[in-house]
Amino acid sequence: MSRAEILKDNYERLIESLATACRKHGRSPEDLTLVAVSKFHTASDMATVAAAGQLDFGENYVREFLEKKDALKNLPIRWHMTGHVQSRKAAEVAGNFELIHTLDSKKLADAYQKKLDESGKVQAVLLEINIADEPQKAGIKLTEARELGEHILTSCPGLKLEGMMCLPPVFDAGEASRPWFAKLREARDKLKRELGADLPKLSMGMSGDYEAAIAEGATIVRIGTDIFGPRPAKARK
Ligand SMILES: *Cc1c(COP(=O)(O)O)cnc(C)c1O
Repeated sequence: MSRAEILKDNYERLIESLATACRKHGRSPEDLTLVAVSKFHTASDMATVAAAGQLDFGENYVREFLEKKDALKNLPIRWHMTGHVQSRKAAEVAGNFELIHTLDSKKLADAYQKKLDESGKVQAVLLEINIADEPQKAGIKLTEARELGEHILTSCPGLKLEGMMCLPPVFDAGEASRPWFAKLREARDKLKRELGADLPKLSMGMSGDYEAAIAEGATIVRIGTDIFGPRPAKARK
């Protein structure tokens, strides 16, 4: 099979498998958004997957995003920021994404807002939660969610807070991730009550654990490897 045929086959298999997982857990496949995480993969591979019907793509690095956005400017792609963003890069990010999954500080919220004040755009965001309190990981602690949520609602009119995102510990996969996903859902429900805001989105589940995430209420799954295969070795993360 050619590279294009392999990608199309991977993609169709994944769509089928997501639909099966949804049905198994009483969810409707239409209520689940697949974000194809394309970091380190080529614009050409992305175009192949887009031709198979995928329009939501996730990128982790600002420079790589800008290059691919330009290379694929003729396709109606909805871009998602799935990587950590440094405040000094905020101006290149705010207003350019369907959804930023990784908001994790007041400083970054303020930097996004500054850019949105200039452009007049609105930017949808999720709070990234460091769900297992891992020191090496980005994201806020659960106990910080309310304060950051309130800050966004009161001081960042350009930001539209839509929910939460998490990445469970890497050593947990499949069903082992499920308690972390349940924890994120409960945290989202709590924040919803505290803020009196509608927070419909839960971004959770990757190649190794999307079924568990769907079982716990994910509305967005972020999947790379199952579509594109392993990331190039030098860049693997
Ligand atoms: C790379 C990445 C993914 C995709 O992971 P796979 O295991 O390749 O499906 C999902 N979410 C985030 C935040 C990522 O950085």
